[in-house]
Amino acid sequence: MTEGANGGNPATTEPTKPGTVYLVGSGPGDPELLTVKAARLIDEADVVLHDKLPGPEILGRIPEAKREDVGKRAGGEWTPQEYTNRRLVELAEEGLAVVRLKGGDPFVFGRGGEEAEHLAAHGIPFEVVPGVTSAIAGPAVAGIPVTHRDHASSVSFVTGHEDPTKEESAVEWDALAATGGTIVVLMGVGKLPEYVAELRRAGLDGDVPAALVERATWPDMHVATGTLETIVDVRDSADISPPAITVIGEVAATRDRVIDFLMNASEEEGEE
Ligand code: SAH
Repeated sequence: MTEGANGGNPATTEPTKPGTVYLVGSGPGDPELLTVKAARLIDEADVVLHDKLPGPEILGRIPEAKREDVGKRAGGEWTPQEYTNRRLVELAEEGLAVVRLKGGDPFVFGRGGEEAEHLAAHGIPFEVVPGVTSAIAGPAVAGIPVTHRDHASSVSFVTGHEDPTKEESAVEWDALAATGGTIVVLMGVGKLPEYVAELRRAGLDGDVPAALVERATWPDMHVATGTLETIVDVRDSADISPPAITVIGEVAATRDRVIDFLMNASEEEGEE
């Protein structure tokens, strides 16, 4: 995209000129991990469309009057993506500066790509503002580096949301097992037993370290560690629920080697 569109001047005076939509990553939840640009755009926005993933601290700082929740509705159902897409276009066509705030990075499992394509198809100028993804930051704040010179020379980010036993699974668990690198699973709390079984079938040992990082960087962050053998029980006894990151691979054991000095370590509740 070469045209400058509304860049730098979203508060246009011409009523027919659409406002800009900013697809903004909020980072994992700690307000200090918002980028400077994200914080400025939130301040300047006329309206902020969000779900719950940016977390209570960041959302709590945005005035109610300019927030629109397009996450889960009262009945527990998700707002359809088509509604969000339509709403973004509608608000921009009113000439407003719109922030579409997404947890982590807007283009990592956040449907940000679909929203960008929808905006482009409707001629709405937009900008992508990358954020600190929970896929890397979640493990990091728990003392787990996703790569390590001695333990992992690659890392894969995968969704745990789909059923790994379905025939046309887009995630090749056996190929992932064969890489020997770190596997980071997003949206992977509910289906943990299924993909752990897939990885075991593909040849990964039961003693491969694994960790669950729930609500990374939120005030009530919660980490639990185990191995492929134990991690499902650990999930249940530690009562881990979404949003959480699953880390599988030798790097997950790093936490135990650094934890005594890790200042932001949360309680180990998976061990009892
Ligand atoms: N765009 C987001 C991911 C969206 S998918 C990002 O880059 O982080 C939603 C999944 O992200 C959740 O199911 C969970 O696996 C993960 N996630 C997002 N924020 C998280 C957090 N603060 N702590 C743990 N997991 C988080």
